[in-house]
Amino acid sequence: MMEKMLNDMIYDVVIAGSGPAGLAAAVYAQRAELNALVIEKNYMSGGQIINTYEVDNYPGFPGINGFDLAMKFHEHAVKLGARFVTDEIDSVKKEGGIWVVTGKNGIYKTRTVLAACGAHHRKLGIPGEEEFSGKGVSYCATCDGAFYRDRTAAVIGGGDVAVEDAVFLARMCKKVYLVHRRDELRAAKSLQKKLMELPNVEILWNKVPDEIAGSETVEKLYFSDTKSGEQFDYDVDGVFVAVGITPDSQAFAGIAETDEQGYLIAGEDCVTSAAGLFAAGDIRTKPLRQILTAAADGANAITSIEKYLNTL
Ligand code: NAP
Repeated sequence: MMEKMLNDMIYDVVIAGSGPAGLAAAVYAQRAELNALVIEKNYMSGGQIINTYEVDNYPGFPGINGFDLAMKFHEHAVKLGARFVTDEIDSVKKEGGIWVVTGKNGIYKTRTVLAACGAHHRKLGIPGEEEFSGKGVSYCATCDGAFYRDRTAAVIGGGDVAVEDAVFLARMCKKVYLVHRRDELRAAKSLQKKLMELPNVEILWNKVPDEIAGSETVEKLYFSDTKSGEQFDYDVDGVFVAVGITPDSQAFAGIAETDEQGYLIAGEDCVTSAAGLFAAGDIRTKPLRQILTAAADGANAITSIEKYLNTL
């Protein structure tokens, strides 16, 4: 087995994650002249937003593509001298007052850790979902939407992502069904307005998916009405699952307090219950998970980290 790289450097902060929270933190850390290292799981920075076709609520950049916005964040951090490594974090622990972050490739020592690992797509857990994953079941409309040109797709969910996905897919699909379990969408009103204007989108209210079926690829979606229990099956070529996110907080489990869904408990100051561990962006408990609020967390976290470092 290859030896893990261990350098003797003790960083002021290791920023785990390079989505909007981690990249904003990298900018603030550079400006604060902290000795910082960003650990990113994938070579491509940006987190969830790199799969967003259009971002229309980040001030100053109306309608910008998510990937382009992520690149701007990244370039800004690099321009200020931020350092990045690509690694996947396995564990985080504190030894003699110093945090030891162990990844697949290296071991990193630091006075503080900023957990900014974000979140990943939640699954439906229904028959056919795993079996047809990549064969008609997708969690990313912007990645896979082009395969459904002139075909029929169903989007499951009623949040911002589901509605954004349905709007995006309607540009290329013959027909898009939005399958939502309630009679009211959770998504932002401006997105709902866009959706309602599209002639090839049909919203199936109070419906829950039961099974995804097909032969080689997806052919049918079985679903039922939450009120009457009536069952339906519609012919679809693709099913896009957009039922929310689960925090990527596993590496921090048992170190700091989490809520019942696994989000690291921290206020706007991003301070967790473990001294020296901070949480920013989608991984922390917060009322509004947006690019803007994630970036704001990055700034607040570094301010809290500076204060903490001054006490050591
Ligand atoms: P979300 O807001 O949690 O919405 C998830 C949707 O899926 C809800 O409508 C929920 O129904 C439904 N759902 C959950 N479990 C289900 C199940 N088992 N079966 C059927 N339906 C199910 O998640 P999201 O849309 O992925 O968004 C995640 C976060 O990112 C949100 O905070 C969102 O605001 C944010 N976001 C921000 C931007 C931006 O800043 N531009 C863009 C996209 C997303 P109920 O409504 O009944 O609970």
